[in-house]
Amino acid sequence: MNKLSDRIEAIQESATLAMAAKAREFKNRGIDVINLSLGEPDFKTPLHICEAAKKAIDDGKYFSYPPVAGYQDLREAIAAKYQKENNVPYKAENIVVSNGAKQSIANVMLALLNKGDEVIVFSPYWVSYDALVRLAEATPVMVKGTIENDFKVTAAQVEQAISPKTKAIIFSSPCNPTGSVFSRNELEAIAAVIVKHPGILVIADEIYEHINFAGDQTSIASLPGMFDRTITVNGFAKGFAMTGWRVGYIAAPKWIADGCNKVQGQLTSANCSISQRAALAAISGDITSTAKMVTEYHKRRDIVYNLLKEIPGIKANYPQGAFYFFPDVSNYYGKSDGQFTVKNGDDFCLYMLEKGHVSLVPGGAFGDENCVRLSYAASEKDLAEAMRRMKDTLSQLK
Ligand code: GLU
Repeated sequence: MNKLSDRIEAIQESATLAMAAKAREFKNRGIDVINLSLGEPDFKTPLHICEAAKKAIDDGKYFSYPPVAGYQDLREAIAAKYQKENNVPYKAENIVVSNGAKQSIANVMLALLNKGDEVIVFSPYWVSYDALVRLAEATPVMVKGTIENDFKVTAAQVEQAISPKTKAIIFSSPCNPTGSVFSRNELEAIAAVIVKHPGILVIADEIYEHINFAGDQTSIASLPGMFDRTITVNGFAKGFAMTGWRVGYIAAPKWIADGCNKVQGQLTSANCSISQRAALAAISGDITSTAKMVTEYHKRRDIVYNLLKEIPGIKANYPQGAFYFFPDVSNYYGKSDGQFTVKNGDDFCLYMLEKGHVSLVPGGAFGDENCVRLSYAASEKDLAEAMRRMKDTLSQLK
């Protein structure tokens, strides 16, 4: 019988993209939805980056296939950034530029994992970690951080979850969806566990590194014994408002970078040439615009936190980075407005979308059914209005 592969049947559609599509659908029907579902900067890509892309087109030198791993000058600039800012001695040979950090992670999974391998995923986790491990036919092992511990998984929990089948651990810091940031001490404790197990690798997703209000941004690859054991994931989407340009990268030991090149050479050949020229301008240029965006996110974090606190029955941590809240809304489960009963996070988001016209993402897709994800990469006006709508809509549930 004709049917999709078991590999595809085993994964869910991306919940973030699905909710964003649903919000768009409402908007197309003329409904004024405030979309807080997609994690996407509401700023424009800075002008000097756009100019570099225009110049690359006008130069006429960038119309052919780029090298599989990315242009040499871009890889050198990324390596230099890691040496200077993150204290990790990467060289160009360690860098592979891909079609967004999502493809970078997919390359890593396909290059490293065999059927039966386990990957410890810090939960709550970004939706695609689970799917990408499964696509590589390996098994995700979720280890849960509690809201009381700022959703952070501890070194002791990691140690406990390790089995002879563990091939890697994966986490993001600053974290999507919780906004939590692992401190240097916490990462040192995790690294101390990992170095005791030579067969285990760390996939450290640092895509939100610029959006860190805590100031303590440590790359686990910089810690003793970790350079040879870490795949650092990063990209341009969040820090430079370049989601549509699709430029992500890994920095990893050469044998892993070579494996990712092999995967990428077969899947996509390389990342878009013009986007790479734009990325080079971003990483080697002035980062005043990034700093300005971060100041705005910082302000919005506090605005949303204060407004969320005013909504009865909602429990939230105080995120230190990224641009998300992941509040526990389970107090509302089982409550009804007389017509509709909110049974779980999916219902909660559906109710908020249909009645409140605010789009959120159910927490189940990130590993916690009690929570929902809210992106505050939106204007202060929209955020204030969204919080007002949420409070109002939820007040109807008894
Ligand atoms: N990383 C963003 C998010 O979590 C973009 C959407 C996606 O690729 O999942 O919303």
